[in-house]
Amino acid sequence: MAQFKFLKPPADGEGIQLRPDGGLAVPDRPIIPQIIGDGIGPDISRAMVRVVDAAVERAFGGRRKIVWFEVPAGEGAHESLGEWLPEDTLDAIRSYRVAIKGPLTTPIGGGIRSLNVALRQIFDLYACVRPVRWIEGVPSPVKAPEKLNVIIFRENTEDIYKGIEFAEGTPEARRIIALLKDEFGKEVRPDSGIGIKPVSVTGSKRLVRMAIQYALDHQLPSVTLVHKGNIMKFTEGAFRDWGYEVAKAEFRDRIVTEEELYDTHGGKMPAGRLLVKDRIADSIFQQVLLRPDEYSVLATLNLNGDYLSDACAAQVGGLGMAPGANIGAGTAIFEATHGTAPKYANKDMVNPGSLILSAVMMLEHMGWNAAAALVNRGIARAVAAKTVTYDLERQIEGATKVSTSGFAEAVVAHMG
Ligand code: NAP
Repeated sequence: MAQFKFLKPPADGEGIQLRPDGGLAVPDRPIIPQIIGDGIGPDISRAMVRVVDAAVERAFGGRRKIVWFEVPAGEGAHESLGEWLPEDTLDAIRSYRVAIKGPLTTPIGGGIRSLNVALRQIFDLYACVRPVRWIEGVPSPVKAPEKLNVIIFRENTEDIYKGIEFAEGTPEARRIIALLKDEFGKEVRPDSGIGIKPVSVTGSKRLVRMAIQYALDHQLPSVTLVHKGNIMKFTEGAFRDWGYEVAKAEFRDRIVTEEELYDTHGGKMPAGRLLVKDRIADSIFQQVLLRPDEYSVLATLNLNGDYLSDACAAQVGGLGMAPGANIGAGTAIFEATHGTAPKYANKDMVNPGSLILSAVMMLEHMGWNAAAALVNRGIARAVAAKTVTYDLERQIEGATKVSTSGFAEAVVAHMG
């Protein structure tokens, strides 16, 4: 167990442990580190805790309870401790393995590019997981938003996001341009900026492996590898090839590729198998609009995943209710996908839906599915009853506007 410098872990809980098979051993009173977040963070975190505690209590009759462990990060930590991400906070997440966070202000200037990126790198949280489905009653720009129900697994550690970039005119950029010409005969305009796009076997395979395992565990129909391999053959195309390699080498008896479906199964899906297919990135943006019900799990590289997550979220009514998780080998951090919306801080006004739905993902990750289902039901019914925060109220005719805490109460009331 971690030795903390100043934090005092709660005495009445236990840490989640990793089992030898990689699964989680979750005690009845797990300690969950919680980063409250900046701006609207305190409001939405309070609402999330209210809802989750009520759901866990109702689902398990008091036998189980989350023991929240507030850990500092962001603006508040910087002001009181002089650090954006104190070592104790990192130790707590490392020791307790499952954490949840509100939004954090991105420091402007200074050494840290983004606290979220820092957390992903420190814990090697290699998959950004975003489920996107419509909640009945949420206004959407498309005719049949209920047809989209996907989970996007976005590779989180490499691709063009690795941050290996050289500005136009710098000695580094000039050197690389010269190297490309002299060594490889490739012409690049001398006034170019340069970005490097590394895509590895390791990074690609572990991401696709997680996506396939998730689809199998949840009995979902398909995993689609999304790539731009027709143009970027040795990065995006390789991602597709390595994805199929993992599928065939590690899940042979449980999957069928689209090619095999037509070559050996006459186009008829064998019972109990998972379909593994691939689509070109530009095509998937058409497909999720035109044939959304043909897609379930989408596994893709970092940049594609960034665009695709937000496009899909917009299709079902925007980012306000979109949950997310960053998951690595032994650690997972669940988080609201929006920012700190500072103008609404401490007004008890904003929509806590994104963080509450992220907590649903967390409960499922812990195997506490009965509590997760109750929260889902509470949210669905509260929105169907048009009891919503300002952001949805302004779009739904006849809706009743409630505060952040009022929405949490409505969710709790609708769980039963
Ligand atoms: P933002 O905080 O997401 O807010 C933009 C707008 O989105 C708000 O003004 C509001 O729109 C709406 N909104 C966001 N969250 C909402 C909620 N829970 N309920 C209802 N409406 C919500 O984006 P930003 O202003 O660009 O970023 C502010 C700070 O957050 C920056 O420091 C940024 O770096 C940081 N950030 C952090 C994270 C993270 O920690 N994961 C993510 C993104 C940004 P209306 O005014 O139209 O109602």
